[in-house]
Amino acid sequence: MAVPYGRKSRTKSRMQRAANMKYSAKVAARCTNCSAPKMPHYACGACGAYAGRQARPVAAE
Ligand SMILES: [Zn+2]
Repeated sequence: MAVPYGRKSRTKSRMQRAANMKYSAKVAARCTNCSAPKMPHYACGACGAYAGRQARPVAAE
């Protein structure tokens, strides 16, 4: 069995962990109005709703 040549630094371990975390954060929230995937704490890109109100005009249809 292969043996690691040297201990991986704290930075390198954390860089690898952060790269893997990116993929799980892609669909973190869904719009409560139209259930489209959206970024948390952002207005919905599809319908413009945020916190139960119209935060910005609806995107071109
Ligand atoms: Zn929406």
